[in-house]
Amino acid sequence: MHVAEEIGLARSIQVQERFSEYYRKHSVNIIPPSLIRQREFGFILLREGIMLRHKSFGNLGALRSFLASTTPSDVYYSSAYYEKPEAGMKEKGWVGADLVFDIDADHIPTPCNKVHDRWICSNCGFAGLGACPDKCPSCEGARFDSNTWTCEACLESAKDETRKLLRILTEDFGLGDDELSVYYSGNRGYHVHVESKSIHLLDSTTRKEIADYIIGLGFTAELHGLTGKDRIMIEPLSERTGWRARIASGIKEFLTQANNRDLEKLGLAKNVIDFLIKNKQIILGRLSGKGWIDVKGVGAKSWSKIIDWIADRQASKIDTVVTTDIHRLIRLGGSLHGKTGFKKVEVSVSSLDQFDPLKEAVAFRDGQMIVDITEAPKFRVGYTHYGPFKNVSHKELPTAAAVFLLCKGAAQVVE
Ligand SMILES: [Zn+2]
Ligand SMILES: [Zn+2]
Repeated sequence: MHVAEEIGLARSIQVQERFSEYYRKHSVNIIPPSLIRQREFGFILLREGIMLRHKSFGNLGALRSFLASTTPSDVYYSSAYYEKPEAGMKEKGWVGADLVFDIDADHIPTPCNKVHDRWICSNCGFAGLGACPDKCPSCEGARFDSNTWTCEACLESAKDETRKLLRILTEDFGLGDDELSVYYSGNRGYHVHVESKSIHLLDSTTRKEIADYIIGLGFTAELHGLTGKDRIMIEPLSERTGWRARIASGIKEFLTQANNRDLEKLGLAKNVIDFLIKNKQIILGRLSGKGWIDVKGVGAKSWSKIIDWIADRQASKIDTVVTTDIHRLIRLGGSLHGKTGFKKVEVSVSSLDQFDPLKEAVAFRDGQMIVDITEAPKFRVGYTHYGPFKNVSHKELPTAAAVFLLCKGAAQVVE
């Protein structure tokens, strides 16, 4: 116990020095939120390991010097605007809030999370691989300690979900690029912030409805009247936006690429699969029309299975709790992520496709550190791949890669 505590302390001192240097020398990276005076700020203090909340700053300079002098591991600000941001929750005087979306690999069932993520029940110690369950299978407890990894495949999935979210926000909600800001979180996902007078005053219930729409909660082909006996409703995107049009374009995209195995996954009967594969070109030709399209050979139930599967793929897997919370604290742009040592960086909507988080978010670009590594899968920082490692002593690594392992708790500095 004592040894572990001492190692933990040694690690935090090394990380602390780097973080402190970052906030002293690179505070220009900090992206201030709009109306900074009306925001509540929160910090996890690196040295003390405690959360400090209900802070406010009159201007960016005051915030930057606070960061340089206190060295937090994580910095947050409120999506809300308050009359008195330093007061207790009830006395703050809520004025409005940005609409915030959080997309995190924690909420995306990637195939690799079973390889690199672990959880352990805080109550009974039952452990498993992959994303945390809602309830412990052994004791039904709901609190877990988790050990997750920042992996390239997970980051790519998070980017896909972000693309889908942006499509829904612009096409269905009519938001302009100037009202949307996209950020890489510095760890396993992306944030999208909407700042607009039209959403400022929305209450929690309304935000929940927006979130439910985006995740396609309760969407079924039947309820939307998209299927009938041997026919299907096609509503082209050019005439309409929303789920019906999204489904119409999704069906064509899916059937164009689908092979036997893809169709089997949907639980379709063998004769339906054979029919779809054999008549694919004819069916695709018909589906380029609009309104009710007759397709004898594929019944309403089969179309429903196809459409419901497509709806699930077209929905964006946002964390609905974040969007619904009108007092949420969110990570500050340009600040460091305590679990990686990467920074939260802004990505322009138009360059999201080319954006490489593992290059753009690197905060520590100089120097080397020597570390003892306990265990780490293969990972990339900048252009270079490292690992996998298991019990490797005296490994010299560039500072960013070493800090990443230290933040993950996978290494210790060799003095
Ligand atoms: Zn348990
Ligand atoms: Zn992964």
